[in-house]
Amino acid sequence: MNIRTRFAPSPTGLLHIGGARTALFNYLFAKHHGGEFLLRIEDTDKARSTNEAVQVILNGMEWLGLNHDGQTVYQSQREARHVEVALQLLAEGKAYRCYCTAEELQAMREKAMAEKRPPRYDGRWRDRDPAEAPAGVKPAIRLKAPREGEVVLADLVQGEVRVKNAEMDDMIILRSDGTPTYLHAVVVDDHDMAITHVIRGDDHLTNTFRQIQIYDALGWHKPAFAHIPLIHGADGAKLSKRHGAVSILEFREQGFLPEALCNYLLRLGWGHGDEEFLAREKQVELFTLEGVGRAASRMDYAKLTHLNGMWLRQADDARLVKDVMQRLVTAGLTVDTAALARLAVLMPGLKERAKTLEELTASSAFLARAVPLPFEPKALALLSDDAKDMLKRLLPVLEATDFSVTALDAALRAFAEAEGRKLGQVAQPLRAALTGSTMSPGIDATISALGRDEVIERLCAAIDGKVAADKNQI
Ligand code: GLU
Repeated sequence: MNIRTRFAPSPTGLLHIGGARTALFNYLFAKHHGGEFLLRIEDTDKARSTNEAVQVILNGMEWLGLNHDGQTVYQSQREARHVEVALQLLAEGKAYRCYCTAEELQAMREKAMAEKRPPRYDGRWRDRDPAEAPAGVKPAIRLKAPREGEVVLADLVQGEVRVKNAEMDDMIILRSDGTPTYLHAVVVDDHDMAITHVIRGDDHLTNTFRQIQIYDALGWHKPAFAHIPLIHGADGAKLSKRHGAVSILEFREQGFLPEALCNYLLRLGWGHGDEEFLAREKQVELFTLEGVGRAASRMDYAKLTHLNGMWLRQADDARLVKDVMQRLVTAGLTVDTAALARLAVLMPGLKERAKTLEELTASSAFLARAVPLPFEPKALALLSDDAKDMLKRLLPVLEATDFSVTALDAALRAFAEAEGRKLGQVAQPLRAALTGSTMSPGIDATISALGRDEVIERLCAAIDGKVAADKNQI
């Protein structure tokens, strides 16, 4: 069997983290079996769907590296086919026209609520002669669903789940305005797209029972279903903004790498021993639905950040340089060729100390700043009068030193010894003077990357007590 899965987002909002995980699972399942992963945009809710949301989905999927096979399918463009299938069911006597008015349906709902029953259509047009149809009422088409027996679903994650047919009413498949309902459209599309496995959030489980009724009425082969648990916040409540970022683009802005996010989303609610760090190839190789747990997963932002740090350290330096440069420019800094070269040289050291691209950008900013630098309070505190005097004595030493990392290391050690200080007692004020911060890659590497002229200029400015306000919010 050629395995085909699909991701079927509704473009009514942002691509959120739960949707991304659903997409990832569909992608991995298909690729694990050498199959195809398709994308269908479910844009039938015309009032709520926007082009912007479609773009966010497409960009988000691309960013996550979840490339789909074939053309993107737009559900709204398949309306004629949805109508055709509904009419086919009608012609076969498996569906019927319902002429209930909005008032009648409202009365039915109110009665059910008063009797504390779930609101359900009572099937009053199921066997009624259409000749009795009231004039001027446009009918909806409803499925003539079985009343006896039950729908049994062998869900690949939830196990066997059953619902009695008597608990479901005759659902509308074509509204009175001639538009197909969502439940119906999804069945027709999944069938026509030859989808073999529907993997989606467990909030769709009740829809599945209804959709199975449609499949059965049509005599169509049903795909296998897997309903995966939703993602909750650390407190167990449904994930929302108050827990932190939820939209994929927000994670991107905050400096998470797509591979880290995918790695985290996979490990969230999918077990494979203790192996935490899994690259895409390995994910494809190992992924099975059997490994997906049934309980809701809890989003742990600290764990994601930790994992992101691991991915950052493995990431290609040139890619990080490019990303950081763009972030610095966005923050209003000028990144000239000299700054870019410094960034490239220091990236191996900088990425060791950051967990996100945002942090990496903050710790790289000093390389692009002009003198005088802004100072963190802790860095400023290191520049005591005694420290400034020491830096004054260091100036001629640096002026006379070859600016290779090894020569600088040797020169600093010799200077510290001559001063009767520990190396750190020299390095810390020096780092503060050169970077405006208390943290940077090794001081010798930092000095070497900045270059002689820049080092001398920054040291002189610090000795003279020149401090700039930080106008760039990084
Ligand atoms: N469009 C639905 C959603 O965004 C998904 C439907 C499905 O996967 O069958 O929740």
